[in-house]
Amino acid sequence: MKSFESLGLSRGLVESVELLGFETPTPIQEKSIPVLLKGDRDFVGLAQTGTGKTAAFGLPLLDLVDDQSRYTQALVLAPTRELGLQITSDLENFSEKFKKFNIVAVYGGASISEQIRKVKRGAHVIVATPGRLIDLIDRKAVDISAIRYVVLDEADEMLNMGFKEDLDKILSYTPDTKITWLFSATMPKEVKAIMKNYMADPFELTVGDKNAGNVNIEHRYVLVRERDKYSAIKRILDFNPDIFGLIFCRTRIDTQKVAEMLMKDGYNADALHGDLTQQQRDRVMMKFRDRSLQILVATDVAARGIDVENITHVIHMNMPDEMEFYTHRSGRTARAGKSGISIALVSREELGRMKQIEKSLKSPFKRMMVPTGPEVCQKQLLALMHKVKEVTVKEEEMEAFLPAVYEELHHLTKPELIKRFAAIEFNRFLDYYRNAPDLNAQDSGEGQGSRYITGARFFINLGKMDGFEKAGFLDMIEEVTGVERKEIGKIDLKGAYSFFEVEKELAEQVSRAFEGFVYHGRAVRVEITDAKSDAAASKSKSRKKHFSMKKEGHRKFGGKSFHRKRW
Ligand code: AMP
Repeated sequence: MKSFESLGLSRGLVESVELLGFETPTPIQEKSIPVLLKGDRDFVGLAQTGTGKTAAFGLPLLDLVDDQSRYTQALVLAPTRELGLQITSDLENFSEKFKKFNIVAVYGGASISEQIRKVKRGAHVIVATPGRLIDLIDRKAVDISAIRYVVLDEADEMLNMGFKEDLDKILSYTPDTKITWLFSATMPKEVKAIMKNYMADPFELTVGDKNAGNVNIEHRYVLVRERDKYSAIKRILDFNPDIFGLIFCRTRIDTQKVAEMLMKDGYNADALHGDLTQQQRDRVMMKFRDRSLQILVATDVAARGIDVENITHVIHMNMPDEMEFYTHRSGRTARAGKSGISIALVSREELGRMKQIEKSLKSPFKRMMVPTGPEVCQKQLLALMHKVKEVTVKEEEMEAFLPAVYEELHHLTKPELIKRFAAIEFNRFLDYYRNAPDLNAQDSGEGQGSRYITGARFFINLGKMDGFEKAGFLDMIEEVTGVERKEIGKIDLKGAYSFFEVEKELAEQVSRAFEGFVYHGRAVRVEITDAKSDAAASKSKSRKKHFSMKKEGHRKFGGKSFHRKRW
């Protein structure tokens, strides 16, 4: 493995990165720094966020910029203010032990006069978002006619965000002699057009597989019904008590709604989207950065450029339409060689889109089951016990209070004490998850739960001729028997009769529930059968345990009179 020193960087820069704790170059740094340091060729780097690309271009850029000249020599364009500020702060850190540069960030949503003042004082490097830079050029506050290096960072994002015209305009103000370095996580045709129009024979570098995403990200999905998505999120959060995560929603309204619901339900969450003022957004980001906020719910646009370390999970409330969005979302975790988990909440309708994304990703999405109530409780209990084990006891400060505490609890045995401590926090979860339903949707349209295929198989003398389709048939069984849909297995609707399966333990209940059941004046016959073929089924009456009732019933179901109009 190479060292930063061996890549040809000046000593001061190497010292600065050491100070930042960077021990060895990341793959993109190792490959691009020697090329970029020559400063004589356009460059295209296809790399995900989080791979260390800011240092990959930032270090050679600072080595090439002349601190003795007052001209603006380098321009770095970034899609968002967030990313712009991040790059500026990285560049300042990289030059800490090197030379004194004026690095000025210009971006929308902040005082333009202040930015003009800073630029006028002399900026060796300007880091800009495209819109604000155009404003400054139009006001003649910025002159980029003698610029030597232009860096387009997250070029695909800039184009996605509609900055194409701004980019064209900005690049038209730059001299033909400039050197352009372009970085992009993906390579859509719009990025290729920029390369074709503005770059000459660029050195092309791909880190990792094209569009393949970061290999340190584990891509998972849960299959849930649309209406269960919020509950599934809560299960996932409860199952991961130490989560530091980002939840992506498609719209601003959904983002706000999910964040508010989470807050109301006691989670440490907040929203980030375009309807917030810049100040509100800054405040939320500050809380997230210093980890006083555990869960950030965001729109795709608002979360672009977020570089927060150690995000453990990225959760997608829906499958995004575009591969690019998925890559950018999930790329917020597993940064700088760390690992991370991306979990997509997918409804059956979204499976097709997931498959498409999977193809470009070249790594399969692994299905993960939404944790069950008992699983969540178990996890929470262990987390709580872990906290008890790890807590720092401030012996001296507590000393004075302990006698009274001992006095209060002295009659309790050790197991009793443990139980009670656990119960204090844990009761909430137990109450919430008592009887919690399974939120996992079935992955095929075939009946409900082919996993009970080995359960009891019933014959019923109702079928398509009675006007039944699968959904209505299921409704009927559910309503008559009180057996939940997920416990009903394969359904085989025929003309005058049908078959259905339920879990073995429920066979008795089902048989009894149908006793005396009358459908449109017709006595319904339900029998357990082990016969697999239709013919066998209809012939097998005699050797079946007979549950059908001939008399019309007056029994009740669910407290209501049984003869419902529907049936
Ligand atoms: P970037 O892709 O530039 O956004 O970098 C992602 C994260 O990795 C940032 O937090 C950097 O500070 C960190 N980083 C970049 N290069 C290195 C390195 N060589 N060693 C350790 N961390 C790094």
